[in-house]
Amino acid sequence: MESILLPLSYLIGSVTFIMGLKMLSHPDSARKGNLVAAFGMTIAIFATIFLYKNEAGASLGNYPWIFCGLLIGTFVGTIAAKKVQMTAMPEMVSLFNGMGGACAMLISLIEYHHDPNPETGKLVVIILGMIIGTVSFAGSMVAWGKLNGRINDHTIPGAQIINFLLFGGLLFLAIMLIGGFSTSSAFFYGMLALAALYGILFVMPIGGADMPVVISLLNSFTGCAAAFGGFLYNNPVMLTGGILVGSAGTILTILMCNAMNRSLKNVLIGSFGGNKTIAGGGVSKEGGNYKEISLSDTAVLMAYAQKVMIIPGYGLAVAQAQHACHELEKVLNEKGVEVSYGIHPVAGRMPGHMNVLLAEADVPYEKLKEMEDANDEMSTTNVVMIIGANDVVNPAAKEDPASPIYGMPILEVEKADHVIVNKRSMKPGYAGIENDLFYKPKTSMLFGDAKKVLQDLVSELKNV
Ligand code: NDP
Repeated sequence: MESILLPLSYLIGSVTFIMGLKMLSHPDSARKGNLVAAFGMTIAIFATIFLYKNEAGASLGNYPWIFCGLLIGTFVGTIAAKKVQMTAMPEMVSLFNGMGGACAMLISLIEYHHDPNPETGKLVVIILGMIIGTVSFAGSMVAWGKLNGRINDHTIPGAQIINFLLFGGLLFLAIMLIGGFSTSSAFFYGMLALAALYGILFVMPIGGADMPVVISLLNSFTGCAAAFGGFLYNNPVMLTGGILVGSAGTILTILMCNAMNRSLKNVLIGSFGGNKTIAGGGVSKEGGNYKEISLSDTAVLMAYAQKVMIIPGYGLAVAQAQHACHELEKVLNEKGVEVSYGIHPVAGRMPGHMNVLLAEADVPYEKLKEMEDANDEMSTTNVVMIIGANDVVNPAAKEDPASPIYGMPILEVEKADHVIVNKRSMKPGYAGIENDLFYKPKTSMLFGDAKKVLQDLVSELKNV
């Protein structure tokens, strides 16, 4: 009986992980999906701790160490997840992902330490887990530092050549060990150092603003490294989890690149975004002026509209204005105005950023329109209210072949009767480029912090 309990709990862990991942694909079930996967993983972890026996029939032991680690990890993880601001989420994902990479690296180090001359298959798995885990750990730490501003963007002269040489060095050392040309552990630890350096130099030159894509890529690396751990321990739940994380990370990376209409190569070696600002404000490239609108005029325009579409962007997240935004929607609904949200796939700074934010504020999911559907409805919309979005509504993506975002699908807000843009200044967004939408005749600028503006607008609307 005892002998089937362990495989059975691994089966439960694997199945719940797959179910959880499936449920994560819809906002309504995402929260439950997370819990389902966590439940399965908890079963798998405790089953390993209490039911695993090695070939000699011995249990794991070391219980004080294991439970101290579990308690510290649970405490730190819970506090960090509860305290994190939504806008700092990519940062936290990066840090946690780095820990996953470090675990995979440590597994390889320990297994190599136990047996420095294993049979070839096992050595390959140990080496691959160590290299990928180390690259992911080092890269994720740099990404984390860049996102929280501790590390600035650096252009490293000849970075590509250095990385190529490092990669060549790794390959050479791996061939020496796996091919049996040497059994020196110096080669193994040399690979560890090269992999760490590679991870740092691989991420260092990439623009800070491209970090979410890089984190997703590093996440897939960590998944692969964990899957190698699964091979090593013949552990199906680690293998399934690793493969799923690896493939999900890869798919997400591709989707993010596609939604920005950029190749992964362009993300990895092209410089994009960063801290650029454009001069002045008030006058477009062609010399056009922008016009401002007052809160009371905005309130009147919205109150007498039939259809309003709200376009949220990164600024809404920064301002934590999602609840105020939902208030605006409710007040408009009370006045008989139909309100929907146009959601661009890369609005904000992480996949699904706007969906998560608006779900947090209890905005009904049916009100969120994906980009294609939102664009279909644009010509019948009276007022489009853009809140802290910039690149995702920039017409240069369609009109200016020289623009770095040319080809990126955008929300075609100009098809609506009126466009109101709320942001704090004329500064650019993520891509660091000017937005001609702000100077178009249909567009009016409503300057100010998104939360404050929305709160004031709600009060104003109540008096209309
Ligand atoms: P942008 O970064 O283009 O623009 C955000 C705008 O919000 C800024 O222009 C800023 O203007 C304004 N803003 C900032 N703070 C506030 C505030 N407190 N109140 C009001 N406005 C504010 O955001 P978008 O969402 O339009 O576009 C997302 C960009 O991020 C795209 O280029 C996308 O490719 C990129 N990206 C997205 C990822 C994702 O997965 N979602 C991943 C990687 C990149 P001002 O300073 O004047 O207020």
